[in-house]
Amino acid sequence: MKKHNFSAGPCILPQSVMLKASEAVMDLDGSGLSLLEISHRSPAFVAIMENARNLALELLGLQDKGYTALFLQGGASMEFLRVAYNLLETKAGYLNTGTWSDKAIKEAKLFGEVIEVGSSKDENFSYIPKGYTVPQGLDYLHLTSNNTIFGTQIKKFPTTDAPLVCDMSSDIFSRTLDFSKFDLIYAGAQKNMGPAGTVLVVVKDAILGKVSRRVPSMLNYRTFIEKESMFNTPPVFAVYTSMLTLQWLKDLGGIAAIEKENAKKAQLLYSEIDLNPMFKGFANKEDRSTMNATFRLAEPRFKDTFEALLAEAGINGLNGHRSVGGYRASMYNALSLESVGILVDVMSEMERKG
Ligand SMILES: *Cc1c(COP(=O)(O)O)cnc(C)c1O
Repeated sequence: MKKHNFSAGPCILPQSVMLKASEAVMDLDGSGLSLLEISHRSPAFVAIMENARNLALELLGLQDKGYTALFLQGGASMEFLRVAYNLLETKAGYLNTGTWSDKAIKEAKLFGEVIEVGSSKDENFSYIPKGYTVPQGLDYLHLTSNNTIFGTQIKKFPTTDAPLVCDMSSDIFSRTLDFSKFDLIYAGAQKNMGPAGTVLVVVKDAILGKVSRRVPSMLNYRTFIEKESMFNTPPVFAVYTSMLTLQWLKDLGGIAAIEKENAKKAQLLYSEIDLNPMFKGFANKEDRSTMNATFRLAEPRFKDTFEALLAEAGINGLNGHRSVGGYRASMYNALSLESVGILVDVMSEMERKG
């Protein structure tokens, strides 16, 4: 039986994408060759890479606006380092909203001064700091749009004259934003775009080349811009499958269409969390993520009952991150409203048992 997959990442992908990807592993578009055995310099793969990069820009509304989309390796964690290497000359601002921002800060400190413009560490990152001031003269301001672990999401982005850098790993392509307000966006593929193995970077070319240090080729965004993401062998399977997911999203009607679905799913689950006395939400209500909902049982003694019901209903991947505990339901683009409905049914069943 196919499970209802609420895993935080790697996570659910559209079934049609998985089917096409597995076909391409055997035979890419009737070529008689597997996607995995052709040269990345072959016309077939060059076209795949180009298509993936164009789809990313198109969906974000960033075509012909001075941005380049790159598919790189090392995951979002590599961008913690690469961003600072390429952009941090003297000081950068970071909003600390959880584990991932914390890790990004740690890397940036190797290159210059880091000013934490705000932090929600005092309340175990259960909210998004607001009303903080962003100092003048920063090399950039770094944000994490969605906090995968804690289930919080930035709804209103700060204005600043500094270049805006954002880790959008767990909510890219899930909601409409004016993406042109950002100068560099990065996202590990495995949350909302594809399989693990590649990280999407969308960078405004004009912000590069301003640091005085020498940047090694593999860490330099300009290397990959000049070589159209093909400086070295790219992760062909991850790029191909990401391309399929982006095409799937475009065919559905793009980000605006999926945003409506995501809103319905979040609304359904959060209203259950709020109305059902058996459960308690973790994140501050106004900062709740539409992608990752964090909650726990009001009384731990119902754990075994709840988890047995989840297993019976075929619900997978609901365990919370160890730093929060409880449960986390990740509702990425490919998760259906029906799957959320099944989870909500189990939660209501708990109320009858409680
Ligand atoms: C998962 C995640 C990361 C880490 O991604 P890797 O690709 O494993 O390095 C970074 N930031 C956010 C917001 C994430 O959700």
